[in-house]
Amino acid sequence: MGLLAKRVGLLDTENAFKIGPQIRSIEDQGKTVIKCNLGEPDFPVPEFIKEEVKRQIDFDNTHYCDPQGILPLRKAVAKHLSETRGIKATPERIVVFPGAKPPIGLCQQTYCDPGEEVVYPSPGFPIYESFIAYIGAKPVPVHLQEEKNFTLSGDDIASVITPKTKMIYLNFPSNPTGGVASQNQLREIAEVIRKKCSKDIRIYSDEIYEHILFDGSEHRSIISFPGMEEITVLVSGASKSFSWTGGRIGWALFPNAEEAELFKNLNINYFSCVPAYNQEGARLGVESPLSRDAIRRMVDAFQQRRDVVVEGLNAIEGIRCQNPKGAFYVFPNISGACKNLGIMEAFRSLSPEVRQKTSPSTLFQMFLLFEYQVATMDRKSFGRIGTENLHYLRISIATDLESLREGLKRTAAASQDKKGFEKFFKRGEHLY
Ligand code: PMP
Repeated sequence: MGLLAKRVGLLDTENAFKIGPQIRSIEDQGKTVIKCNLGEPDFPVPEFIKEEVKRQIDFDNTHYCDPQGILPLRKAVAKHLSETRGIKATPERIVVFPGAKPPIGLCQQTYCDPGEEVVYPSPGFPIYESFIAYIGAKPVPVHLQEEKNFTLSGDDIASVITPKTKMIYLNFPSNPTGGVASQNQLREIAEVIRKKCSKDIRIYSDEIYEHILFDGSEHRSIISFPGMEEITVLVSGASKSFSWTGGRIGWALFPNAEEAELFKNLNINYFSCVPAYNQEGARLGVESPLSRDAIRRMVDAFQQRRDVVVEGLNAIEGIRCQNPKGAFYVFPNISGACKNLGIMEAFRSLSPEVRQKTSPSTLFQMFLLFEYQVATMDRKSFGRIGTENLHYLRISIATDLESLREGLKRTAAASQDKKGFEKFFKRGEHLY
């Protein structure tokens, strides 16, 4: 009998949180790192939300509160979802969590028995895949293709559904690709699910980037299609919309009040409740017309940066990049650069143990970080299964334009520095 339960080793992680110490070690040498690894907007929380949080603390609204989430926030979210998705959301069906992340694993715990299948997008937010082995379910990645601008068709979903499918994760606009499914694609997906699945499955629609859409397009949700409201868990929160990742406010709308009660009880078991003063701040953010302007300013900045970064990346030999329609990431294909730099052979020359821990895009990511001081994320940070021959990077544009331009310059230089890569690889220090 060892110390640790077996399941502990089955949980994966989110590398965006792991790369921090590597960046700090480089900064400690007096070098400036261009941080294109971050999954959070580089804007302050809107002033009126900050003021509300301060006011709530001054009111001594600092005690335990409703484990399901304070009613005013649940009411505000229910109204917002009803108006924007054309559904009839009620506060009884909503549960507030410390961020949009916790319901990912809690839903798998609640809905999936061992052996049941969980469908999730790859590339996708890593926590979807991370939990599956821990729960004992079976991972079924559905691969989003660059040629289809990282969206998903009804046929794509149809090809992975089986009688054992229990949960299907969808995430549009998507992390890490910025892909957004069209209204038609969502309709097709809904039709396939209606035809092929029983009512005892749950669609998990992660809509945390609902407000970050480019070129004037509007957010669409799977929940708006016939038959979907009674099988969909719709998740969103304050982290991206209000640039408030540290506030830890997220929420989920469940198909019915009974299911919401189960999650309320999980909240009671795990953390009792989410700070009421932050929930009041989020409530104001959801309700206030002032949010529209704050969000517009942020989205305009992201769109301007997207245009600069996509153009800059496409001008680099060996790199090609799709134009994302939302979120704040670009996801360039770096296969050509990996070939030009000799990364493919370098990767093949590694021992099987090291090869397991790295990948060609990881080697490029590390070379870029340690030799050119640009922090990005590799392909396998967004799903490992079936991605051996896929070579991409996620570049976050949640960084000012000047830094992004400098990052592009460094990336272009790194992509041509074959000798530099050879030296870096020979040193063998940061291969994963
Ligand atoms: N879902 C997606 C797709 C995300 O990108 C993130 C954050 N990067 C989350 C969920 C988690 O959000 P939160 O910080 O509110 O927990």
